[in-house]
Amino acid sequence: MTGKRKHLFHVRRLRAVLLVGLALAALAGGGYLIYKYVWRSPQHPALLRWFDEPASRAELASSFDAPCPGYPFLAPSSGLVGGLPWNSTAAPYNLLNPHPGIDIFGAGAPGTIPVYAAYDGMLTREADWVATVIIRHDDPLHPGETIWTYYTHMADQTGVESYIVPAFPPGTYEKPVQQGTLLGYQGLYNGGSYLIGMHLHFSIVKSNPDGSYKNEAIFHNTLDPTPYLGLALNAADSPTFPQRCLPPP
Ligand SMILES: [Zn+2]
Repeated sequence: MTGKRKHLFHVRRLRAVLLVGLALAALAGGGYLIYKYVWRSPQHPALLRWFDEPASRAELASSFDAPCPGYPFLAPSSGLVGGLPWNSTAAPYNLLNPHPGIDIFGAGAPGTIPVYAAYDGMLTREADWVATVIIRHDDPLHPGETIWTYYTHMADQTGVESYIVPAFPPGTYEKPVQQGTLLGYQGLYNGGSYLIGMHLHFSIVKSNPDGSYKNEAIFHNTLDPTPYLGLALNAADSPTFPQRCLPPP
């Protein structure tokens, strides 16, 4: 082998080693992402326990009768608060559309676990809403801006029996409510698309320039509830249970 050919041989071998290295790194990175976001859903253990071992519920549940000190919003129901947290990519959500709110799984029968307004505001229940209300608020963290809190699944599995209190019939618009006003009870109604465990889905929704609420089903139309409630409610923070108030901001 001449000196030049020997040099070329070395360059090619170096290039091959680098390519194999890059391929291995890409595989490892992809594997890690799958591990982190698909296979290992950090919020699953407590949620699985909640349903598999009902005896565990007493030690996982929280109940709040006032907002956490220094935070504006009241946790709107009791149970496994944030059992499916905001920003979770666990099924049926995914990386492209994470969970746009928090789920609070109550301990008890459908129609018995109360749901309260998180903050003072003006309540709307659209004419065709079986299980849902939404409340308009002046954003306590950004005064002058409008945000909304959204509460759903408050009906039986079929949607025949609504668990929303009679004070808020379908076609209610801009009715004043206070923090802690009883809205209804946790239920099972999900439009009939798939079976859900009984819970409240709660989210904080941004508004359009005209002040109307954005589509709450789209993740980027919602806000991280953590700084409003003072609880660990973002999947990125790997919530633990029972929930305890975060230190005041
Ligand atoms: Zn939900």
